[in-house]
Amino acid sequence: MIILKNAHQLKKMREAGRISQLALLEGGKHVAPGITTEELDHIMHEFIVKAGAKPSFLGYGGFPATACISVNNEVIHGIPDRKHKIQNGDIVSIDVGAIYDGFNGDNAWTFAAGTVSAQAQALMDATRDGLFEGIKAARPGNRVGDIGHAVQTYVEALGYSVVRPFVGHGVGEDMHEEPDVPNYGRVGHGARLVPGMVIAIEPMINQGAKEVQTMPNGWTVTTMDGSLSAHFEHTVAITEDGPVILTAP
Ligand code: MG
Repeated sequence: MIILKNAHQLKKMREAGRISQLALLEGGKHVAPGITTEELDHIMHEFIVKAGAKPSFLGYGGFPATACISVNNEVIHGIPDRKHKIQNGDIVSIDVGAIYDGFNGDNAWTFAAGTVSAQAQALMDATRDGLFEGIKAARPGNRVGDIGHAVQTYVEALGYSVVRPFVGHGVGEDMHEEPDVPNYGRVGHGARLVPGMVIAIEPMINQGAKEVQTMPNGWTVTTMDGSLSAHFEHTVAITEDGPVILTAP
């Protein structure tokens, strides 16, 4: 069942989204050669707690940290590690969420550490722009498939591939609600978008083939061919006036 949110609930979600976005920006500000992924996680943890919110990923399904930090060929669900130092040229995907007043915000961004290759920058740009293509399609009357189609056609035209087994989702009192929001799809297919729906749109885009695998730690997902992957996400409300990004400062 898709749970619609009223104006009062959307106001709370805007605050949860704001804190989530500020935590992500705070983490991103510190992405640089030499910092460890655990240090980045700690910075975001402190930020969320100081804002009076709760890190939503910590303990979720047993996840051991505040943020998922996935570097280079890691797609999602990278576990922060005190032994993992960021290197110059890395691309660092941070996915972080906060619960405030009972509601979730969820967002992700891929940051460049130092100077990255032109190819890495192009992948990041394409994934970010693909996210905004998806957001543009998130308006009443459209369907979930229109969002996926918008993302997919945009990134595939640039020669990239869309990760299939992991998708966006509804967001509310639960971090993962219905519906699933794939980053691929067909125009006019899937659940109809109506005002009051809140969804996380989160393209995970690979430089090479779309296939991914889960590492023995049970969490970290990497590209099968070792190519780079990028991940950008916003929590978006469907309103009469169109999409509104809730994970905004
Ligand atoms: Mg998400």
